[in-house]
Amino acid sequence: MLDLTLTPDQLKLQEKAHVFAEQVIRPVSRHYDTTGDWPEEIFRQAWEHGFLQSPVPKELGGPGHSQVDEVVVNEEIAWGCAGMYTAISANTLATAPLFIAGSEEQKKHWLSRLLEAPRLAAFALSEPDAGSDAGSIATTAARQGDVYLLNGTKCFVTGGAYADYYTVFAKTDPTKGARGLSAMVVPQGTPGLRIGKSMDKLGHRASNQVFLHFENAAVPAENRLGAEGAGFGIAMKTLDQTRAVVASGGVGVARAAYELALEHAKTRVQFGQPIFSNQAVSFLLADLAMKIEAARLLTWQAAWMTDKGMRNSKQSAMAKTFATDTAMEVTTHAVQILGGLGYSRECLAEKFFRDAKLMQIYEGTNQIQRLVIAKEIQQGR
Ligand SMILES: Cc1cc2nc3c(=O)[nH]c(=O)nc-3n(C[C@H](O)[C@H](O)[C@H](O)COP(=O)(O)OP(=O)(O)OC[C@H]3O[C@@H](n4cnc5c(N)ncnc54)[C@H](O)[C@@H]3O)c2cc1C
Repeated sequence: MLDLTLTPDQLKLQEKAHVFAEQVIRPVSRHYDTTGDWPEEIFRQAWEHGFLQSPVPKELGGPGHSQVDEVVVNEEIAWGCAGMYTAISANTLATAPLFIAGSEEQKKHWLSRLLEAPRLAAFALSEPDAGSDAGSIATTAARQGDVYLLNGTKCFVTGGAYADYYTVFAKTDPTKGARGLSAMVVPQGTPGLRIGKSMDKLGHRASNQVFLHFENAAVPAENRLGAEGAGFGIAMKTLDQTRAVVASGGVGVARAAYELALEHAKTRVQFGQPIFSNQAVSFLLADLAMKIEAARLLTWQAAWMTDKGMRNSKQSAMAKTFATDTAMEVTTHAVQILGGLGYSRECLAEKFFRDAKLMQIYEGTNQIQRLVIAKEIQQGR
């Protein structure tokens, strides 16, 4: 049986997220894009709506959103503003390792913190010399009695300046390569942890990325998630799950740009007729509409597989790549369809265009996704 309809609860959630994106996020998205300020008030409201803590299970008092719920919500939030989407969905990325490898006690302790106040968690894997090749990270975690001493530098940590805690990946056994990685939760304020320079960037300017410097930062051994050496697997499984969420962000940005371009094409008159009357424009919009639909279906499939506990490395990599390549394509064409206005800061098309680019890069570049897909199909999966 195949049923692609959302449940009544999911439709309500989608409507709630859309109203939030349209009435709360959109009116201020240009302001935060221009200033690069941190939209704390928006995040407080996102928390009140249950979007900031969406993965926290119902048993702990959270909304307990499924992955399908999450992609439905995140498409709307990214439609409102990609930067705020990145900042809000970072909680899903950072808490996924807890769901994958945390004990019941660890889950209860760390996830409950997100319910008490509008708090953020951050995911710290990337380093200056280890991006795509995450197995080669150099940050070390040396066991000393009942603590690990962390040393090294993380970069591009989303929400890092404001996070309540970090899920950090470090080498507990530097002789074992990727198999020597472990994951652990590091609370903000840990002595020896210093928040470094913040990134000034092209798009997603309402989100924050920083360096984290660890200098003999002592982290309780009880904060380790899973076994020593299991960190690389935890990181890869996390990304398999959260790539559907990135894909939904791509769909949201693509849809926002497409709607703007379609409206313009129908109302802008040149040579005595709306520019939509030119097949060069209407066929282009037809192609973009088709790709957005296809991207959403791949996204829902990948999320649905996560909910069913199915292996979805291939499908989530396909969804992330297709949806974010589509976002880049749609936003590029949207600027073109809007002509000179599309290039102006008076119109959001140029923001969507800048925002789309990041989605092809983070949580594994689209080249790395193609490596994942190639490996999966080579192995007959
Ligand atoms: C705004 C932003 C937010 C981010 N948030 C986080 C976060 O919260 N936590 C976190 O840990 N990281 C985060 N990242 C890091 C992000 O995941 C990495 O930037 C990304 O994985 C790429 O790594 P890199 O930048 O080091 O590029 P590199 O790995 O140096 O790659 C450079 C180029 O080479 C290509 N390339 C590399 N290897 C291959 C290969 N084998 N085959 C083909 N092409 C290849 C890449 O596709 C890319 O085009 C963020 C990054 C940005 C920009």
